[in-house]
Amino acid sequence: MNLNISKIKVAGLLGVTAALAGCTAGKQQERPNILFIMSDDHAYQAVSAYNEAIGKFAPTPNIDRIASEGMRFNRCLVANSICGPSRATILSGKYSHENGFIDNTFGSHFDFSQNTFARELQNSGYKTAVIGKLHLGGTPTGFDYYDILPGQGNYYNPDFINEDGQYRMEGYATEIIADKTIDYIDSVKDDGKPFMVMMWHKAPHRSWEPGPNELGMYEDVTFPEPATLFDDYSGGRTAASLNNMTIANTMTMQRDLKMTPVPGRRMNDEQTAKWEAVYGPIYEKYIRSDMSGDSLIRWKYQRYMRDFLACIAAVDKSVGKVLDYLEANGLAKNTIVIYTSDQGFYLGEHGWFDKRWMYEESERTPLLIKWPGVIKPGSVNDDLVSNLDFAETLIDVAGGKIPEDMQGASLVPILKGETPGDWRTAFYYHYYEHPSEHNVMRHYGITTDRYKLIHFYYDIDEWELFDLQEDPNEMKNVYGDPAYAEVQADLHRHLEELRAKYHDSDDLNQKFIDEYNEKVKENPGIEYWKLSAPDVQAPKH
Ligand code: CA
Repeated sequence: MNLNISKIKVAGLLGVTAALAGCTAGKQQERPNILFIMSDDHAYQAVSAYNEAIGKFAPTPNIDRIASEGMRFNRCLVANSICGPSRATILSGKYSHENGFIDNTFGSHFDFSQNTFARELQNSGYKTAVIGKLHLGGTPTGFDYYDILPGQGNYYNPDFINEDGQYRMEGYATEIIADKTIDYIDSVKDDGKPFMVMMWHKAPHRSWEPGPNELGMYEDVTFPEPATLFDDYSGGRTAASLNNMTIANTMTMQRDLKMTPVPGRRMNDEQTAKWEAVYGPIYEKYIRSDMSGDSLIRWKYQRYMRDFLACIAAVDKSVGKVLDYLEANGLAKNTIVIYTSDQGFYLGEHGWFDKRWMYEESERTPLLIKWPGVIKPGSVNDDLVSNLDFAETLIDVAGGKIPEDMQGASLVPILKGETPGDWRTAFYYHYYEHPSEHNVMRHYGITTDRYKLIHFYYDIDEWELFDLQEDPNEMKNVYGDPAYAEVQADLHRHLEELRAKYHDSDDLNQKFIDEYNEKVKENPGIEYWKLSAPDVQAPKH
């Protein structure tokens, strides 16, 4: 009799345990899945949800779905506008000088022993994965699964690296990365755990190689030129005048604009034939032409846009494919989808391509987030947010505790439509990589809703102040103008507060300069950066 009772008791206890386990699993599943999509160098001007001129000619309807079902951020600023450092900031929630990844040179490696949102989410029970371009060196940790491109990776028939080593895939990187993302989600969707998957594209990074399904798609389109395509870098902008990143002088005919009879881009015969069918006739026409001066710059700009935007078209299709997959599998309602780029990019503004500067097109990056049931569809936000905030946001979403060394803030209240009263009114920026490609001098500064104060502190020691309301294209440096004396003094005060808050300083700058210059000496092969830079002239008009 007693025996029977204890059997019943045991059975009852087991039932309770099973019920508790079910409850825990159910609670975990209530935490949203996260699909974090990032492209490389996707200018906000080329996301049609931002309503810029280019979007009308090259729409991104699938990326725009995230905006129409969620929130579009108009002022998402990056801490350091260049690939590796930006990714390091995103993972760590810290500025470059704190996470240790300050530039892309000399085999920079991210220190994965520090806190990252991936590790925090993995520890809290998320299935975590990174697929595509990580570009941080070393072996990524904090991920249950990784399948990444080595370094910059290739557009065509790219190599990937996973736990088993490096291997080659046939096909186009953007399409492969989307398929791998869907395959991974499909493999974990029934595990009873939420997932956090990073689909990080290589596209549309230089040298803008369109995929086989988008080659030539914009050949009949003439894109509108930006107002500053023929910038002469007057207006007190010395650093800009010393640049080496113009469409006119820096963009190459061969590598960048494909004006060569041999593609040499890892293609198979079929891919080569498709490529040649588009670029062959353009090349033939180009070598017979005698374009020069402004007409050549205009021609180069159109070629650049056609290639860049065709790369974006594949990215947009990939976004559509994964969004459709989530919907078809009942996952869309409980999945946050983030779309961003590692920084902004110049699409001919100031005559440039590339990034790096604290000027608007490169400091600002697209950010669109949808979170069904939390974000009001079609929301637009003008707060100063940053890639410094992404790690904190994702940890907050997962119900975790934000590590104290992270320097940004969770966007969750903003996503709910409730910007905190003490939200930042100025954002700190710091770029380091100099001397190097494109000759962008080291600089730091702050951005507010209306002004920018920038200090080019190395090689030249000059301050710049821009009034974005009066001068949205940042053409006239008003630093020292008596009309701005009060504004300037306030900005200086605010800048020093932020430098102290984030533990940045002149001493730290000097330390990084000394370390960098030591490496330059040890690597004579890269001396050409320094030697070529002062000879670069602004285009004459
Ligand atoms: Ca980039």
